[in-house]
Amino acid sequence: MWKEPSAGIAATSNAVVDPAVASRQPQPAVVARVEPGSIGEELGFQPGDRLIRINGVAPRDLIDLQIMQGEEELTLEVEDPDGTRHVVELEKDPDEGLGLAFTEALFDGLRQCNNHCPFCFIDQQPPGHRASLYLKDDDYRLSFLYGSYLTLTNLTASDWQRIEEQRLSPLFVSVHATDPELRSRLLVNPRAALLADQLAWFAERRLQIHAQVVVCPGLNDGEALERTLRDLAGYASGDWPAVLSTAVVPVGLTRFRPAGDGLRPVEPADAAAVIRQVEPLQLEFQQALGSRFAWLSDEWYLIAGLPLPPRSTYEDMPQRENGVGSIRGFLEELELATSHLPARVAVPRRLSWVVGQMVAGALQPVVERFNRVEGLELRLYGLPSPYWGQVQVVTGLLTGSDLLEGLADLELGEALLLPRVMLREGEDVFLDDTRLEAVCSALAVPVQLIGGAADLVAACLGPPVWDA
Ligand code: SF4
Repeated sequence: MWKEPSAGIAATSNAVVDPAVASRQPQPAVVARVEPGSIGEELGFQPGDRLIRINGVAPRDLIDLQIMQGEEELTLEVEDPDGTRHVVELEKDPDEGLGLAFTEALFDGLRQCNNHCPFCFIDQQPPGHRASLYLKDDDYRLSFLYGSYLTLTNLTASDWQRIEEQRLSPLFVSVHATDPELRSRLLVNPRAALLADQLAWFAERRLQIHAQVVVCPGLNDGEALERTLRDLAGYASGDWPAVLSTAVVPVGLTRFRPAGDGLRPVEPADAAAVIRQVEPLQLEFQQALGSRFAWLSDEWYLIAGLPLPPRSTYEDMPQRENGVGSIRGFLEELELATSHLPARVAVPRRLSWVVGQMVAGALQPVVERFNRVEGLELRLYGLPSPYWGQVQVVTGLLTGSDLLEGLADLELGEALLLPRVMLREGEDVFLDDTRLEAVCSALAVPVQLIGGAADLVAACLGPPVWDA
């Protein structure tokens, strides 16, 4: 899934091993929202206020802030938007928060990666777009807070100490290969070879990780993949496994990557081979560990043209955010949400629903179920992405220009149902910087954003909110 750091986060250089970067002075935490009825509201906090120090210490990020808020007695140093400084003293229950949300999660800058992976999606973008698209997040704090993947290659001694002291677990680690030489080659970084020691470090301290392996055909598939999964599974036993799960995902390549990078896209035969290799391992892990432990992302099955595994095989879906079982989960939610569809709608309705070409086939049965409702016509359009140069594309990567090109001259009906995952979180902008209103206006159709199964049912059967 696309992880894009906030545009407001200051980025450090990628030479994060530099201690000067690690000790970067935190900036004040800027209040974005004040929860009604909270201590923050009682104290008179307003959006735009800047929290400088708590009990004399400047928080580096939301993790520090959360821990500091746990004190019973707090002295807050705050600056108004006009620059006036206040000191506020308060007493509260330790489990009571201040009820403040902040504009950023990190106050001392984003730790970027110091690797040079040839398959890096960030490097496979065209130049000239919003700056946040080019930030190479490799920050353990964001991994702990939001589940973004990191490589562990840029951590300083004090970072490791902090992970241990603050129990920042689980973290989400991009492994790619456990063979030290191969991992160094894949990440183009000698520090990548230290993974085995790092896994042992987590295990010794009863700290945990989720792992991911991005498979590049011909580089880390086959025997290398088997070794990687077996090595990781070696840390997955016992009451307190150091490795909780592993996601195996195919490399994504775009038309913007340099020629001669040694990479090739995953073909259906590659996908089928990886499935044939990993599914028996899952059964073996199930026997030994009581969990399938290593899961294949949905893309493998869609590329291979094979049915998605049943929902029960994904256990508690530990890697759903990483595209592992997300379509199966969505189909299951749709199954429930559409189990009692009406026989007809009072007012005839014609709608269109746009998704990435890769997932359209899996969603077609749902569309057919909707179309059995008399008076309702739902058309599903599975589009390729000329922007990225991908025919089999996942929905989240479709851009505004892909929609404009793919939907021009098509019958879109009263409204276009658009998966929210195509837009940047909290904003109406696509990955190519096209704005949603530009797409609506060019296609001359209102758009209804779809976040999940309930939204789809509401859009098909509920009041037409696009008329409002
Ligand atoms: S670790 Fe590799 S893939 Fe991830 S941002 Fe850095 S260069 Fe890109």
